[in-house]
Amino acid sequence: MLGRMQDWPLTVDRILDHAKSWHGDREIVSRSVEGPIVRTTYAEAHIRAKRVSNVLKGLGIGHGDRVATLAWNTARHLETWYGIMGIGAICHTLNPRLFAEQLVYIINHAEDQIIFTDLTFLPILAQIRDQIPTVKHIIVFSDDGHMSQDLPGALCYETLVNDASADCAWGGFEENTPAGLCYTSGTTGNPKGVLYSHRSNFLHTLVTMGTDVLGVSATDTVLPVVPMFHANAWGIAFSAPGVGAKLVMPGPKLDGASIHELLESEQVTFSAAVPTVWQMLLGHLRQTNGKLTSLKRVVIGGSAVPEAIVRGFRDEFGVDVTHAWGMTETSPLGTLATPNHRIAGLDAESQLKFKLKQGRPPIGIDLKLEDDEGKLLPRDGHTFGRLLVKGPFVVGEYFRGDGGQILDADGFFDTGDVATLDSDGVMQITDRSKDVIKSGGEWISSIEIENIAAGHEKAELAAVIGVFHPKWDERPLLLVKLKPGEQGTKAEFLAFLEGKIAKWWTPDDVVFVDDIPLGATGKIDKKLIRQRMADYVLPST
Ligand code: ADP
Repeated sequence: MLGRMQDWPLTVDRILDHAKSWHGDREIVSRSVEGPIVRTTYAEAHIRAKRVSNVLKGLGIGHGDRVATLAWNTARHLETWYGIMGIGAICHTLNPRLFAEQLVYIINHAEDQIIFTDLTFLPILAQIRDQIPTVKHIIVFSDDGHMSQDLPGALCYETLVNDASADCAWGGFEENTPAGLCYTSGTTGNPKGVLYSHRSNFLHTLVTMGTDVLGVSATDTVLPVVPMFHANAWGIAFSAPGVGAKLVMPGPKLDGASIHELLESEQVTFSAAVPTVWQMLLGHLRQTNGKLTSLKRVVIGGSAVPEAIVRGFRDEFGVDVTHAWGMTETSPLGTLATPNHRIAGLDAESQLKFKLKQGRPPIGIDLKLEDDEGKLLPRDGHTFGRLLVKGPFVVGEYFRGDGGQILDADGFFDTGDVATLDSDGVMQITDRSKDVIKSGGEWISSIEIENIAAGHEKAELAAVIGVFHPKWDERPLLLVKLKPGEQGTKAEFLAFLEGKIAKWWTPDDVVFVDDIPLGATGKIDKKLIRQRMADYVLPST
């Protein structure tokens, strides 16, 4: 026997349909690549997305074909997503911060047939054009007047869209049809593709709308700084139209001054980005004595949020920070540090401790901690182990089966993160399993030390890596990039850490560097740091 309710496949085209029907005049405001601020609405974006679908059909794209985007967050990019997914084609988001060879690899692996792109990225595409044979067309988000001749044969988006009919049926396929494809940055081995389905995206959207998750509402104005090419802009391109929130798309300008300008001019109430973006914004606000007159809440994830950012937002600007954890493989939101009943009753300082953790899983996400032998570890807040995750919007298998079987016997996926869970069910990442420092058989969290060190007033960035030690196997080394014009000493940084970490976690050395490299998703690139420090020998050995 089956339930007797309506058969309504959970396909994402219904999200923009809903936005058109019920929030049609809500605005999408974009900073265009050409420069000016461009305003449109959900109703208008819906019409243009349908036209995109017809453009694609006219170019021979059908069900299951891969269509890529290499683009900033703008209304055009959003229309294109829905135009691709609405007809059952697969939207493959390309990250422009990847190296050219990685882009070539993933475009060929996905067998992308069309790439939609911004003027900004034509030089990258020109460089790799002859190495991506499956790509039949490149469509540039531009009008005739701004089209560039940098890439011969490229097509003009506005011309195509204006010439196409707005009459196109969407959906009508099974909800498990693939909708999107996103490759992990591949810190080890080749990048691997996560193939989202309409159903997984729809469920992720419903879950993230919850008050204890992103909690975005129809009254919000939302600015996703987090790019649509990085883990789906944390689902905001679905959840904002899903609730009818006004969307503000920052385009190519992600520096503090540009973000501040948009936050104020559009009276943004909610925003989301990685910590480095907020660091830049706070720096800009302090330098210019800037104010935040409308912003209420920011979600920060992608890497651990430093305490100084949470305090800065709260104490100087009255903005609440929600820390989030997730990964491409979890669609991406996995946990959010919104308080439960007990935590909400604590004083502000105790709540702050909890806000620095990565948070609780919403419905649809199950978590467990295991040791290296697969033994379940307790939720005691201090035992750390491998973090595994399970749920209907968590990866089950990589695209084309890469990496083979990736789930354990109970269907859990190993995140590659090392974490603790406490009795409130709050998870805290202590490291990546490949970065955790194994000293004398015990684990030291590189992230915890670097976060504290980054809070030193002279530090711009800090990173901790494990370095070979003959007795302890590995010992921590702290690398610090000082703020411009600052001088620092090893002794003052070690003194700063004293009392904040266990004594045996104290780094064996502090090295001041000109550069701490960031990878394609804005995170500290420890692999590169380890390569650069390959010849370094600890003074203690
Ligand atoms: P990649 O692994 O390719 O960089 P993702 O963007 O999917 O791509 O990164 C996911 C990883 O980022 C997580 O497994 C985790 O290590 C890290 N991460 C994400 N959010 C946080 C956070 N709030 N705190 C610490 N680490 C985080």
